[in-house]
Amino acid sequence: MQVGSQTQKKDLIVSKFGGTSMGDAKCMLRSARVASKQNSFLVVVSAVSGITNKLIEVAKLAQFEAWSKTELALAQIKQIHKTIATDLKINPELEVQLDQLLDELESIAKGIHLLKDCSLKALDTLQGLGERMSSVLFMKAMQSALLESSPDTSQNEPKQVKWLDARQVLRTDDQFGKAKPQTQKIRELASKWLPSKSHGSHIFVTQGFIGSTEEGASTTLGRGGSDYSAAIFAEAVGADILEIWTDVAGIATTDPRLCADARMIPEISFQEASELATFGAKVLHPSTLLPAIRKNIPVLVASSFNPEQKGTWIRAFVSDQPLVRAMAIRKQQVLVTLSTPEMLQAPGFLYKIFKVFNDYGVSIDAITTSEISVSMTLDNSALLNKKLVHELSQFAEVQIEENLCLVSVIGNNINHTPGLAQKIFTAVSDINVRMICLGASKHNFCFLVEEAQGALAIQKLHKVFVQ
Ligand code: ASP
Ligand code: MG
Repeated sequence: MQVGSQTQKKDLIVSKFGGTSMGDAKCMLRSARVASKQNSFLVVVSAVSGITNKLIEVAKLAQFEAWSKTELALAQIKQIHKTIATDLKINPELEVQLDQLLDELESIAKGIHLLKDCSLKALDTLQGLGERMSSVLFMKAMQSALLESSPDTSQNEPKQVKWLDARQVLRTDDQFGKAKPQTQKIRELASKWLPSKSHGSHIFVTQGFIGSTEEGASTTLGRGGSDYSAAIFAEAVGADILEIWTDVAGIATTDPRLCADARMIPEISFQEASELATFGAKVLHPSTLLPAIRKNIPVLVASSFNPEQKGTWIRAFVSDQPLVRAMAIRKQQVLVTLSTPEMLQAPGFLYKIFKVFNDYGVSIDAITTSEISVSMTLDNSALLNKKLVHELSQFAEVQIEENLCLVSVIGNNINHTPGLAQKIFTAVSDINVRMICLGASKHNFCFLVEEAQGALAIQKLHKVFVQ
């Protein structure tokens, strides 16, 4: 495996496998072989592909529909896991563990149905069952992969696979649905439950996405949060490398579905990769890199389906620093413009506005201001909150434009390169640009266009800057 050539046997590696890498018994075995070959210390897994959505569906059905519908959904979930268990030839103890989790799922669904209520707290326990079940199945895949790699156990002491309930280590606050990890506490708990002296003799299997509060209530880190979990674990155990194994062979210059000429990036800096993740590239959860940056842990993104392909390394420093490395699109944006003559030389106006956004927990992506108006882009879901718009209209005239997308060009020295803006806008000269953000970041230049024109803008830019 080529990626192995960049790692060393003694490196402490945390490897995360996403939902598609856990899709069925074959995928799990393939992923487990990767972890075995990489000599991973800790393997963090997602739920079986599609299961988190099904669990959320169970919560809805149980609340609002006849019990028979919930039963049907539960039966489907059970069947998916049981099929994998059979295909993997799971051992009886693990099967008992799986059955207990399936029973727990049914009990929680029943509770929701009886109460006709599902709090965020209940939903977190329910959603988290996907990862708890897949990790039990993955134990067997891991045992099989290790046996294959060293069939003659009479010579060496066989490596032991240990299952860890992530909730014993991943301490969070109690913001159910999007809980915040408590780094210091997690580090203390990791040294107890994941001692690095076991590296080499043990391989731990745990769940992404879930954590628990001080009081022991289950939490989740938000959708797609397993990447983030893996990074938090990597930080807590002092890992040398974090590996994110997915179904694409790394980070591409742009989304290959938008532009057929997109190609894989061998190496990218933390800053560029963070901008890419934040501005729409789907391959990494946007928070993933924070712990890796804090502890300077190189991150490999690669495909468990094709581990021999090199993947993308994300590091603090990369020698090749092109002006434009990649481009991304962030869909479903709205542009909110607030205008009022009162803004003219009035200190505190922006403060008042931002306070409203803060109170409603809405994050602003890009912003520009003039003397009497300020425009900002938000995810369109923010507008679902009618009160937010009402409150803003107390300060200024509010104008909203929908169906937009944010196109970003990501690279190096972007804000100090003469002529770049001209080159970008020449490339997209026939596309109507609604707002431009340049200057704040060395690594990102972004502008807003109509959603229907986003793909075209990317194709044109890619041709000029990357191909
Ligand atoms: N299973 C969770 C989700 O689908 C977390 C993850 O896969 O990252 O959102
Ligand atoms: Mg994911």
